[in-house]
Amino acid sequence: MPFDPPRSLSPSKITAFRDCALSFRFSAIDHLPDPPTAWTVKGTLVHSVLERLFWHHEPGSRTIEAARAELEHAWGLLRSDDEYRGLGLDDTEARAFVLDASVLVENYFRIEDPNAVRAVGIELMVEAYVDGVRLRGIIDRLDLTDNGDLIVIDYKTGRAPSAAYEATKMNGVHLYALLCQERLGRRPIQVRLLHLREPAVITAHPTDQTLRGHRRKAVAVWTAIERACADEDFRPRVSPLCRFCAFRPYCPAQGGDLGLAVNREAIRAASQDARLPDPGPNRANPIPAQALPADRRINGTNEIDGTNAVQPLGGRE
Ligand code: SF4
Repeated sequence: MPFDPPRSLSPSKITAFRDCALSFRFSAIDHLPDPPTAWTVKGTLVHSVLERLFWHHEPGSRTIEAARAELEHAWGLLRSDDEYRGLGLDDTEARAFVLDASVLVENYFRIEDPNAVRAVGIELMVEAYVDGVRLRGIIDRLDLTDNGDLIVIDYKTGRAPSAAYEATKMNGVHLYALLCQERLGRRPIQVRLLHLREPAVITAHPTDQTLRGHRRKAVAVWTAIERACADEDFRPRVSPLCRFCAFRPYCPAQGGDLGLAVNREAIRAASQDARLPDPGPNRANPIPAQALPADRRINGTNEIDGTNAVQPLGGRE
């Protein structure tokens, strides 16, 4: 029986399919468990601190001390979270974990002054139908310049890519720019990756031409996914990423047993409740009003496009 394609495509799914179609199938179609790692949980913690820094602190008060206080708060919450507890860190490892998170947070202040930032969206879910493909993504931060231009910001807590892979690593933020263009009718003038480890900033300037290219690539990946689903043909692609792959027990290329992953009906039933309802093509408001910091709302209205419809923010992908 052919596989059902996923209901939407996100930058992370596009990357996953390109990296390894079989791993994509296990994750996005079979919904096999992919336990978080210390790196991914730490990334979530740091994102949460920066999110709170912008939500809870007015420009002028977004200091490093405020960020440290937010880290302490977020760390307190995280320690009782199942994902963190699942890591099984001992006291020494936990201290190293939070110390490293604090280094990443403090590094942020070396590459940007948050008091000079006018954020109009934080953890902003944007969705659009692009040539019939439902594209969606969560933008870490959307900034508005004094000239009314948009800038897409993406925080990265891993190592910055080498120059050879820089363009590839920008694909996700370019797709966010495409989503902004589709939903807001405005192409962001910049996309920026803030690499907190080095720290370093990688900037690109989307053009109509580059966004057309990313649109074509996204549609091509979707077509390939649909074909793979129809043909039940998801091939493994062995690479250095296999070392970090949670699906090795099911992967024939790693001596695993694909049979362990084929109980698709049971897996689908278990994951059904987690799926989002389909809102229909381009129906909802481009930017939810509650995504704007209070000081950026005008009578509860979206500062960018003057609308006041609201949609809930989704979780991270
Ligand atoms: S172990 Fe490697 S080849 Fe196998 S599914 Fe994972 S990433 Fe793909």
